[in-house]
Amino acid sequence: MGEKQEYAPFRVGAARCVSYEPSAVEEAVERAVQASGGWPESCCSEEVLLKANLLAPRPPEDAVTTHPEVLRGVVRSLRRRGAGRIRIGDNPGYIYASQKELLLERTGMKRLGEDEDVPVGTLSDEGVEEVPIPGGRVLSRARVSTRILRSRYLVNVAKLKTHVETEMTGCLKNLFGIADTQTRKRAHQSRDTSHLVHGILDLFTLARPLFHVLDAVVAMEGNGPSHGSPKRVGWILAGPNAPSIDLVAAVSMGYSNPFDIPLLRTAAERGLGPRSLDEVDLRGANWEELPTAGFRRASGLVRFIPTPLRGFAHRWVALRPQLERSACVRCRVCQEVCPVDALAWDDGPVVDSNRCVQCLCCHEMCPTGAMKAAANPLARWVQGMRS
Ligand code: SF4
Ligand code: SF4
Repeated sequence: MGEKQEYAPFRVGAARCVSYEPSAVEEAVERAVQASGGWPESCCSEEVLLKANLLAPRPPEDAVTTHPEVLRGVVRSLRRRGAGRIRIGDNPGYIYASQKELLLERTGMKRLGEDEDVPVGTLSDEGVEEVPIPGGRVLSRARVSTRILRSRYLVNVAKLKTHVETEMTGCLKNLFGIADTQTRKRAHQSRDTSHLVHGILDLFTLARPLFHVLDAVVAMEGNGPSHGSPKRVGWILAGPNAPSIDLVAAVSMGYSNPFDIPLLRTAAERGLGPRSLDEVDLRGANWEELPTAGFRRASGLVRFIPTPLRGFAHRWVALRPQLERSACVRCRVCQEVCPVDALAWDDGPVVDSNRCVQCLCCHEMCPTGAMKAAANPLARWVQGMRS
């Protein structure tokens, strides 16, 4: 058994890591975990499930998914502490659940599983179960992977990316993936971003992993989580509290006040994490060295709107889906993922702007990038005035 964990709920361990060179990542994962106080003892004895981010069948260098070297580092670190069976999985985005072999091959998970003798698969292999979420604000019930519900020892191994709807995706948002497509669609069915934010946090309260590791070595900037660009940020972050890690990660993305991000502010308001950066016990790094020069956030103006007005203003300032017809391969994925059936068909998808809630799920899941996230003319004009 490894060292005893010193209980520090808002402690975040940070380790510099500027490439995915395997030994460098393994060493950085170990340093970040130790800086945060070490693995909880319960992670080191029985079966541990690692929840990765396997959103889509994209190669690790695209920065869409958790890098396999980070997962390898976590597997080896847990084994050094005596962990028994370790399993890796995720519920990939919507249709990709039916393309499991392609997903595992492209993301590097198949190779990782073979190298490390670890089962890797989709979380819903054993089906889903509907369960209540006590205190859920948006989701009073959710259909969650049976494997997640049966797993007592869950470790969240997330990827840092921008997100066109929630501004960032890190540890908190990665847990949205414990639910099935139907549940996730329900959380997306509103123009008011707070609906989605509460849905994400409702699922977080259900999952409650023991520990989190965030792959912020190369993050995604621009219009993530699928169609942004890789950006070197250079950190592995670890700790027992997801909002604390996401706050540190947001600073690394250049936010001087990470509570400007609705997901992080709402997590604090719901008592799920620190209410100020002063409460975060950052080890292994200084706050001043975290920000990444020139990091591009997701576009869109919702973040500039006062919180009480966001629901009202969303329609006018949020990004909206726009088809680049020449890039469309007419796969109908966008139609399948739309939570409000806002896409008709006329030799390609046609957006019904009255129904569309601008959730951008169609943009996120479009395999070719044909469905763009476009600013409307008013938003472009205001953005031009600001720059
Ligand atoms: S816009 Fe994208 S998801 Fe929709 S049909 Fe075209 S290629 Fe497929
Ligand atoms: S058309 Fe796209 S952006 Fe609009 S509601 Fe459907 S999935 Fe969301």
